[in-house]
Amino acid sequence: MTARKQARPRTLLILGASGDLTKRLLLPGISSLIASTVPADREMVAGLRIVGSGRSKRSRSDWQKQVEAALAEAGVRAADARALVAAADYVVADPTSKDDLNQIIEGIDAGGSSSASQGPDAGDVAGLIIYFALPPAIVLTVADALSKLSATATKILETAVLAVEKPFGSDSRSAATLNRRLLKVVSEEQIHRVDHFLGMATVLNLVGLRFVNRLIEPIWNADNIEKVEIVYDEDLGLEGRAGYYDTSGALVDMLQSHLLQVLSIVAMEAPASIDPVDFRAATAQVLRATEVWSGPPVLSGTTLPSRRARYTAGTVGGDARTGETGRGRSMPAYAKEKGVDPSRETETLAEMVVEVNTRRWAGVPFVLRSGKAIGVPRKEIILTLKPVGFVPRGLTGTERPERIVVGLKPSSVTLELTMNGDGDPFGLDRHDLSATLDAAPITAYGEVMRGVLGGDPTLSIRGDVAETCWRIVAPVLNSWRRNEVPLEEYRAGSEGPAAWGRDITPH
Ligand code: NDP
Repeated sequence: MTARKQARPRTLLILGASGDLTKRLLLPGISSLIASTVPADREMVAGLRIVGSGRSKRSRSDWQKQVEAALAEAGVRAADARALVAAADYVVADPTSKDDLNQIIEGIDAGGSSSASQGPDAGDVAGLIIYFALPPAIVLTVADALSKLSATATKILETAVLAVEKPFGSDSRSAATLNRRLLKVVSEEQIHRVDHFLGMATVLNLVGLRFVNRLIEPIWNADNIEKVEIVYDEDLGLEGRAGYYDTSGALVDMLQSHLLQVLSIVAMEAPASIDPVDFRAATAQVLRATEVWSGPPVLSGTTLPSRRARYTAGTVGGDARTGETGRGRSMPAYAKEKGVDPSRETETLAEMVVEVNTRRWAGVPFVLRSGKAIGVPRKEIILTLKPVGFVPRGLTGTERPERIVVGLKPSSVTLELTMNGDGDPFGLDRHDLSATLDAAPITAYGEVMRGVLGGDPTLSIRGDVAETCWRIVAPVLNSWRRNEVPLEEYRAGSEGPAAWGRDITPH
């Protein structure tokens, strides 16, 4: 990635700090970055003030305890943790209120400047990062409020960085509106549209696997690959997030954002360098060329390029294949979960087939799938290879296609190759060459925060790309709204509706 270009930010203001994202992912991610022993990371986080804010009444010491616990969990050194906890603050404020924002931003600058003097570059302009850990529905209102602040606060915003979570808007038009409004506050380079899948070590490892590998690089194209599947199934259910999830569903929550980003790295041309311009141009080019599949049917039992389903009551954690439920976790039907409006017909499992209309990929279906409450929750990218053009007569055996399987969680790469069968030199069999990669010390959110804190947007989504991703899924969303695709059901703990069969083949 490139050298840091902006004044180093010093104060991280988290709007919506009482929420689920801050607790489960953001603070642990920042803490994993703070625990890093890499000198550049240590310099970046030195003197950082972590300021939480929300409407919920909360004391400073309560917030400091939360920060302290996250730092301890990540193994941050005691002396570093003490300084960070002492500098941490919590401000009760409504992020949609111009007056409240004025007050916190003006106040934070004073704190930021003083803490900046503790860091190695005491002469730097005090920097501010505002992280929108907020429900997507209010992000536009907050952006508008930020564009109308006092002269003092506006001056501070000139060097600020805004980190905005997905989903970015609710269709391409609202994403474009949000882009325009954010640009009234800061310039494009100061906006980080966060998709933490871009920070996942395995997703980033794809770059090395694909481009710096003599065996794999030449075959990563439509001449050799028949089909690409990107699967992210979870055994978790709703986990109390009905307020957000019931209005999004699996397609918007996972495919529209995370899985299209993964696709963009799977399918991109080699960027000239891993910097914000080259890397994001390469991924953007892929997404601009991506559309809903128009070729022959790919999903079994339907001529449509998409499917959707919702889980009914069941047990997750038993043996999904045998139906054995011992030691499993029982789950109510999605439609009966607290806060769910069943008439919205929100899907908890979505599949969509797309095509990437480039010289490299024309004609290859890309199947994207993500579901909740799945019995055997696979998280992987599967590339099915085309058969070789010629097999010598006399060699007999396997019909199973060869595959390259990249495990996203846990991190692994498996080459499923045809070789001679055990004990029979003329019989063919399939063997796996497999490598498991160590878990990265920095979490996906830590990786994203490295970019945000360092002012390097390589791993954040460009404004036009945020709009493009909505353009890609719009035909599917519209056909679902028109009820042209039935909402099917599957038992929690199963692998999806029985009628869907095994299109996405397990190992
Ligand atoms: P929450 O629904 O938990 O909301 C976060 C906080 O926002 C709340 O605690 C609340 O704080 C504040 N808030 C809620 N409604 C309003 C309102 N009307 N006006 C002002 N403030 C409000 O969201 P999450 O933390 O789950 O998610 C935040 C963002 O992160 C979303 O965009 C989500 O899509 C994204 N995200 C979340 C993930 C997750 O696992 N949670 C994963 C990936 C992305 P208070 O009441 O104190 O003001």
